[in-house]
Formats: sequence, C-alpha cells, structure tokens
Amino acid sequence: MLKIIIVPCLNDNYAYVCYDESNDAFVVDPSEFKPVNKCLKDNNLNLKFVLNTHHHFDHVGGNAELKQEYSCKIVGSKLDEERIPEIDISLREGELWNFKENPAQVIEIPGHTTGHIAFYFMDEKIVFTGDTLFALGCGRLFEGTPEMMWNSLKKLKNLPDDTKVYCGHEYTLSNAKFLQSVISNDLINKKIEELKKLELDKTPSIPSTIKEEKELNLFFQSDNSDLKIQLNMKDKTDEETFAYLRNLKDNF
Ligand code: ZN
Ligand code: FE
Repeated sequence: MLKIIIVPCLNDNYAYVCYDESNDAFVVDPSEFKPVNKCLKDNNLNLKFVLNTHHHFDHVGGNAELKQEYSCKIVGSKLDEERIPEIDISLREGELWNFKENPAQVIEIPGHTTGHIAFYFMDEKIVFTGDTLFALGCGRLFEGTPEMMWNSLKKLKNLPDDTKVYCGHEYTLSNAKFLQSVISNDLINKKIEELKKLELDKTPSIPSTIKEEKELNLFFQSDNSDLKIQLNMKDKTDEETFAYLRNLKDNF
C-alpha cells in the first residue's frame, strides 16, 4: 500500500511524495528542493526515485539537489532524455517501472509537451498526469497539436473509473469556472461551491477520479454528440471539438 503526501510547491504546483511501509519513497514532479526535502525529513523517508512527467522547470526544478542529497535515481521519458536534468532511467510507452512490488505503466501522452508521460500504478489505481489532464481541465498545447492531446486524453479516459488522478497544478476552481461559462448545470455549479470551500480552507482539491473527469471535464467529452450540439459543432470531428474548447479556454 502506497501512502501519498501532497507537497505544495511554487505558486500552484504539487509534488507528490509516495512511500511504503519501509519508508522508502519516490517523489513525482519536484518543482523545487526545499519543500520536498522538508517533507522527506519530517516523515523520516528515504528518497529512492524522482519521477518526472515532463521536462518543464516547474516539474523538474528539484531534480539535481534531491539527487545530490539522497543519491536517488531520476526516471522520465526516453523522448526527453536531453531535456530532463540528471535523468538515469528512461522509459517508453507501455514499459513497466516498479517501485518495489508496485508496478507502474508508462503512458505516453503528448500534447502539452511532446515527451509528456503519465505513470499509472495499476494495483493502487493511481495515475500521475502532470500537465496533461488536470482536475476539470487539461494543459495548454505548448508543443503538440490538438489531435495529439485528444488522443492522449482518450488513453487516460480508458483507465478504470475509480483511478485516482494526481495532476501537476491546483487549477481546479478556475477550470470549473471555465466549464461553467461553457455549460452551466447543477453538477458544475455544485462542484464550484465545494471547490470554493476547499480554497478557503487551503485544502487541495486533488485527487480527482477518472469517473469524475468523465462526468464533468468537457475536454474529456469532445466525442460527446450532445455536447457537440450544444456547442453548434454537430458535424465536427472530435479533434475539432477538442481544439475549439482548448481555444476557448486559452482566451478565457
Ligand atoms: Zn508543464
Ligand atoms: Fe506545470
């Protein structure tokens, strides 16, 4: 059984410190050294690995210092060997990476960046989605096309409904407000009230689940014919519908 500690970093990033009964740990997307190091020391954890979902500074900024302090190994995409600082273990689509007896499947999900990956711990039903799938949103297309991103989201949509989704940023409330601006319904209005309370309490809205994303996240529903009709995009492809929504969000 893995335990997960959410570590707020920078403005709105999350790093995730994960550990087992023996206090061996890995961390996903350490944007910075200090808060992650403090969390590890406070909880008496031995850092063995850093997992990076993609090469952006706000996900790899702590790599070098953590490696120096803990002699841990850095794990990331083979496609980003040149861009992930200090990488030791590089993986491709479908490869399994094991944290002791916890297997994780690597899922290539390009769009935000071309080398973006997710780590899916199938036994624990946990997925780390970086800046590809956010709670109630998705990442900007810095390096990929809408088609790439839509295909990546479809891969994540295929994970079991009860998979917990741990994403790279606390953008959930602003994502929800965007969804409300496109389609206002009871579900999203209720969700916004919940999220406002969490924000007041400074409580992370993470994790969400694949089920919840399917129900609320419009980017996940770009193949939904009812949504297409509401958007006046009845005859458009799923990719075109996704691109339209992404463009609306970019200008929101
Ligand atoms: Zn990013
Ligand atoms: Fe980011």
